[in-house]
Amino acid sequence: MFHMVAFAWNSFWWPQSGQWYAFWSSFGACLTYFAVIGVVYKHFKCQSCWRIAHHKVEGTNYKTCHKHSTIADHDRLIEKHSHKFPAQHELFNRNKATAGKP
Ligand SMILES: [Zn+2]
Repeated sequence: MFHMVAFAWNSFWWPQSGQWYAFWSSFGACLTYFAVIGVVYKHFKCQSCWRIAHHKVEGTNYKTCHKHSTIADHDRLIEKHSHKFPAQHELFNRNKATAGKP
């Protein structure tokens, strides 16, 4: 009985020859799946931690969760953004500066 289980387990994880394509293609599909999940998660997560973000940091493309929505945290992120993406930061803040003006 144990041998049967072990054999089934082995062929599940380690398919016989001829099944390598199926093994690698399903592995590749999994990687793509995880990559997509990762990108989507990164888009929605807080800039400072793993929580889902709800609040946009003004003048950047960052977002923060409820816990990191403080003036200190946002100032730190705006500062970080201006060092990391100076050109983008200038663009975002130029748009903000000209917004509302005729
Ligand atoms: Zn956070």
